[in-house]
Amino acid sequence: MIHNAKRPVTDPNTLPPMPYHRVDMKRYIGKTYLGTRTMTYHSSFGCPFLCGFCAVAAIYKSRWVGKRASSVVDEILWFKDQHGVNAVEFVDNNFFVAEKRTLEIAAGLRGRGIAWWAEARPDTLMLYSDATWRAMRDSGCKMIFFGAESSSKETLELMNKGGKQTPDMILELAARAKAFDIIPEFSFVLGTPSDDVDGQIERDIRYIRRIKEINAKSEIVIYVFSPVFFDDADLLQKSRAFGFEFPNRLVEWLQPQWTSFDLRKQPLTPWLKPRHLEQISNFERVLNARFPTVSDIKLKRWQTGILKTLGAWRYKSGFYIAPWEIRFVANRLFRYRQPEIEGF
Ligand code: SF4
Repeated sequence: MIHNAKRPVTDPNTLPPMPYHRVDMKRYIGKTYLGTRTMTYHSSFGCPFLCGFCAVAAIYKSRWVGKRASSVVDEILWFKDQHGVNAVEFVDNNFFVAEKRTLEIAAGLRGRGIAWWAEARPDTLMLYSDATWRAMRDSGCKMIFFGAESSSKETLELMNKGGKQTPDMILELAARAKAFDIIPEFSFVLGTPSDDVDGQIERDIRYIRRIKEINAKSEIVIYVFSPVFFDDADLLQKSRAFGFEFPNRLVEWLQPQWTSFDLRKQPLTPWLKPRHLEQISNFERVLNARFPTVSDIKLKRWQTGILKTLGAWRYKSGFYIAPWEIRFVANRLFRYRQPEIEGF
């Protein structure tokens, strides 16, 4: 197999305007917790980092290009004028790479009645000044998604998170976001390869609880680790050392277990036993009942109250085993949606 060299990423500033008139825009604007008319928007492509579990890193190989702040603001205000948009989800892989650009976008959106959400790296936002945080909040930034990933410094290093992110940093970030009244949405990847899988899951759970103590509004998103084919990633090497291997033949990917793996439904990692998956899922269920996500706009106040009541004693006592009653109420009666990356 011969791999051609990657071609440079196209600079979005050199592209002609998007022909939005060719699509039925109302199909792409919806109601979310951010606003009644929310759209998604890509203001940049790629990511300069090389986290070892991330498909974006495998595709873009450390390349990032952003649209000029003035073009981003002009385009969003055009959507507001033409289509009544009042909220934007920036679905960039890493929106906040350049602080100056973020500040300019925030200045352009301030007072325009646009609420917004985007994804960030914790270390990047911890380096932002207070003035930029304030400008973001004043421009309508309501929530920011962060990859917190793990309570373990060693796991963060294996993930190649750029070497600057530490578990303590996430705790400081939770407090900082609270001070600026922006909801932090922290995602975690539990179940990475380890000699002590049980202990690591326990430590991650205790750490998530600590974040909630610092900032109860923090939204927590939990994933189970599944390796990404990124050959030089330490995490893939460690996964192989623990007995994981991808199929060797294309046709094997058609087998049901690999189809589920590809959809991130079944990690197929030898170190994770069914009891680990159950432990993670039980904790997640109790956590999401005790702290229902604000992003589920269909959840009524009385439903939130019932979920909180069901989750409260379990969360307080740390008893997560078999939360059937929560499952029944959440799935059957409310169709409760777990917090997730995108709002709709
Ligand atoms: S910073 Fe985020 S998008 Fe970039 S490589 Fe890491 S996980 Fe992926």
